[in-house]
Amino acid sequence: MGAHRLWTHRTFKANFWLRAILLVAATVAGQNCLWVWVRDHRQHHKYSDTDGDPHNASRGFFFSHIGWLMVRKQPEVIALGKLIDVSDLEADPLVMFQKRYYKTLFVIFSMILPMLFPYYVLHETLWTSFLISFVTRITVLLNGTWSVNSVTHIYGNRPFTKDMLPTENEWVSMLGMGEGWHNYHHSFPWDYKAAELGQHFNGVRHIIEFCARQGWAWDLKSASRAMVKYRATKRGDGTHAQYGWDSPDENNNQLKTEEDDYENLKKLAEADFVGPVY
Ligand SMILES: [Zn+2]
Ligand SMILES: [Zn+2]
Repeated sequence: MGAHRLWTHRTFKANFWLRAILLVAATVAGQNCLWVWVRDHRQHHKYSDTDGDPHNASRGFFFSHIGWLMVRKQPEVIALGKLIDVSDLEADPLVMFQKRYYKTLFVIFSMILPMLFPYYVLHETLWTSFLISFVTRITVLLNGTWSVNSVTHIYGNRPFTKDMLPTENEWVSMLGMGEGWHNYHHSFPWDYKAAELGQHFNGVRHIIEFCARQGWAWDLKSASRAMVKYRATKRGDGTHAQYGWDSPDENNNQLKTEEDDYENLKKLAEADFVGPVY
């Protein structure tokens, strides 16, 4: 929620305390400091599945899942990474504090603190607490996150944009609390839902909406129905439940044949655009 939907894509704004909590959560997750994570992820969106993408899925499942972390970055990736704009992160004192003290914060928040509950409350040994609360937790979490880079760039349908690798994958969404609706996300990266309204397994969306109701988050950006419909009918692979080729929606069937309607829908979609960007 923090590293991805707040800091990378700026899909909503958050007050200091929510940002602080999300920063701690990102530290507990142990996936490098936010500065590095966000830069790599912006680069992934900008150069998706090409030689400029740090976890280029065109190089196969293993490389995009974990292989990219086992080798030195390609020269193209390093060169293009330097061009990614991270000035907003460098203006955020919380992010820069975490970058500066990341190793210490990682040991405290991701290794030591999670071990205290099983050790003190459940009276487990230190070794068992370490294996369960750190090793097992981080293994499951990392594989869940990596699946977004590997599984959802290979397996699933592409109802919003057919000419890209990212897919819609229910299993990854279930594991990743909504991060597996990846064809939608790559089509509308600035949408806080990272999925269409009504799609299931999207826990992060509900947490963001809860925070907005409390007044901790605001300016939630989202794609309108016109934008989604335009995109699905114009560039999707025809598998969209409502706007797909086999959909009984007569209006939609007309849209598939009349270019003028595309133009009207495009105008509506452009009027609704709230983006940035990444
Ligand atoms: Zn992706
Ligand atoms: Zn993203």
